[in-house]
Amino acid sequence: MRRRIVAGNWKMNGSKDLVQQLVGPVREQAGRLDNGAKVVIIPPALYVSAVQAEAGDDLATGVQNVSQWQSGAYTGEVSADMARDMGCGYVLVGHSERRQLFGETDETVAAKVEQVLQSGLTAVLCVGETLEQREAGDAERVVATQVIRGLARVEGESWSQVVVAYEPVWAIGTGRTATAEDAQAMHAEIRNVLSSMKAPAESISVLYGGSVKADNAAALFSEPDIDGGLIGGASLKADEFISICRAFP
Ligand code: PEP
Repeated sequence: MRRRIVAGNWKMNGSKDLVQQLVGPVREQAGRLDNGAKVVIIPPALYVSAVQAEAGDDLATGVQNVSQWQSGAYTGEVSADMARDMGCGYVLVGHSERRQLFGETDETVAAKVEQVLQSGLTAVLCVGETLEQREAGDAERVVATQVIRGLARVEGESWSQVVVAYEPVWAIGTGRTATAEDAQAMHAEIRNVLSSMKAPAESISVLYGGSVKADNAAALFSEPDIDGGLIGGASLKADEFISICRAFP
């Protein structure tokens, strides 16, 4: 049985006020979910403690990025061990904004995944094609390559600490969502790729991300290989985020 997960990626948004307004109501509703979904809040690292103070046991927390190194003279970086030390359970790795704006390669992504797994946390590997790549008929190859290279250092028991998030770049923050059928097709392909890597593909959660909203989440989450969502903009609104958390069949 795969874990259902809805994770809210706040990106570089938020404030102490937002934490106060949003986390309490989300926690209250998350505690009443009867669909088994794990709800995760992923604020900017600076706000993790403030979120945790409001989150109780019903919400997990994560960070949006960690260093590919364990510790040392890397000014400005935060390590996976620090994320664990501060009570986080999840780390996003290789989000398309990190790949596009901060030059993260599949190699740095693989090193970060390794750090996260060594820390005992769950790595949420983000993969997805650009519009140009999709229109060129290259989407599946691009995504398969990101999965294979990003997870190249994973082995044995540590597969249980891996989640994959399929986020077509053209759908992130654009209001354009993949159809449920197209998303399902890519999720099934990701599972095939995981199987070819000798991973326990049937037990790895594969989330969809890219302009998920209250009104399209149910169709996406009804697909057999879509195990939940990675939610950007809509995770900043308590009511909408909660509706998404409830959207499983
Ligand atoms: C994201 O940041 O991972 C994301 C999917 O953003 P949005 O939901 O705003 O498209």
